[in-house]
Parts: sequence; structure tokens; C-alpha cells
Amino acid sequence: MTTIPEAAATLSWRDTVRVDDEVLDAVLSRLDETYGPRVFESRGRPVDVLIETVLSQNTSDVNSHRAFESLLARFGTLEAVAAAPVAEIEDAIRFAGLSRIKSVRIREMLERLIRENGSLELSFLAGMKLDEARAYLMSLRGVGLKTANCVLIFSLGLPALPVDTHVYRVSRRLGLIGARVSVEAAHGDLEARVRPEDRYRFHLHLIEHGRRVCHARKPACRVCILNALCPSACAA
Ligand code: SF4
Repeated sequence: MTTIPEAAATLSWRDTVRVDDEVLDAVLSRLDETYGPRVFESRGRPVDVLIETVLSQNTSDVNSHRAFESLLARFGTLEAVAAAPVAEIEDAIRFAGLSRIKSVRIREMLERLIRENGSLELSFLAGMKLDEARAYLMSLRGVGLKTANCVLIFSLGLPALPVDTHVYRVSRRLGLIGARVSVEAAHGDLEARVRPEDRYRFHLHLIEHGRRVCHARKPACRVCILNALCPSACAA
């Protein structure tokens, strides 16, 4: 396989964009080798992923999953949650933190989805253009870019790219996005950079790499399999 320094040395200035693509391909290839292939598997109905993702805001996956299970154990279905008193929803999701505001928003979005669509069946999103599906979800109060993209990619397998703290940090260190770009802007920048068919594995690999190696405080650059490709690599 051609290494990046070799490839860069043979390219003219006109090939700058190709160098970027080659770096990204090399990054993905090394992450594939390290963490294994990522085959899409739906995490559930769009509405289930939506509510679990809202619950995950500002808390751990463990806590949000526990809160989602508690919600279903208490009410049986999300349709029943849509008609439940907010105080009871708040009590059921207390593991997730920010339960007051999350309970109000969850009830509000479930009510609206049923009112507009007649049910909580949101598979129609798969037939929309990506930007339209994203805009529909983001019109729900409490749903931002990351949450909307999580629903689209993890439920429906659409090529949306959620940018969480790990994806953001590792992408910046690798130089895939600018050092000063905001998290919001990083969503668009990375979708412009990463091919649709690569976005699922890119997202999952960067989260895993951020958790295991490219830590926020002390990235383990010395043992990182990306250090030869990374402009931020340090000797630590
Ligand atoms: S070389 Fe260091 S900064 Fe770059 S991706 Fe690896 S751990 Fe992160």
C-alpha cells in the first residue's frame, strides 16, 4: 500500500484535494484494520432512536438507555407516553438528568408527531431528501443537528453524520476540519468531506478511537495507528 508521505511526494499542487481524499481513505483503512468492519444495523424505529437520543443529551449512554427502558416499563409504549402527565414522564426518566426539560420536550414532540402523521411511524423520512428529513426532525423543539443525524443514520441508515465530542476532537486533530470550526459547522464540513457510503464507519471509528486512544487531555500519540497521518501527533 502507498504510504501518505510517498503519495504526497508524487502529487503536484493541482492534486491537493486528492491528497486530502487519500489521507481520509488511509485513516479509514487503518481504523478498519484496528476496530474491524462496521456493518449497518438499525437501532430501532426512528421514533425510538429519537427519544433515546434526546434522553442522551448531556448524559452517558448508560444513563440514557436506563431512562428509556424505564419509560417503556412505566408506560408500555411511546404512544402512551404522548398522553401521559409530564410529571410522570419526568419521574420515569430521572436517570437521564435534566428530566424536567426533557420530559416536557418528549411529550411535546410525541404529541406533535401523532397529530401531524396519525401515528409515531416515521419511516416516511427514508423517502425524503436527506436535508428535508433532517429539517423536519429539527423543527421539533429540542432536536438539533446531532440528534436529527443520529435518528437518520442509526435508525434508517441514511448518510447523515452526527458530530459528537469524540468525532469533533479527532477530526480537528487529524486536520479534517478547521481548528476553529464550531461543532455545528463541523457537521456540514464533515459531510462535505466524507463520502456518504463512508459516514457510518467514519462516525463509529472516530468515537472508538477518541475513547481508546485520542483522549481529550492526553492523546496516546506514540501508540496511535494514525500518528504518521496526523498533523497533531506529539511524541507523548
Ligand atoms: S496521533 Fe495523537 S492527536 Fe493524532 S489521532 Fe492519534 S492520538 Fe489523536
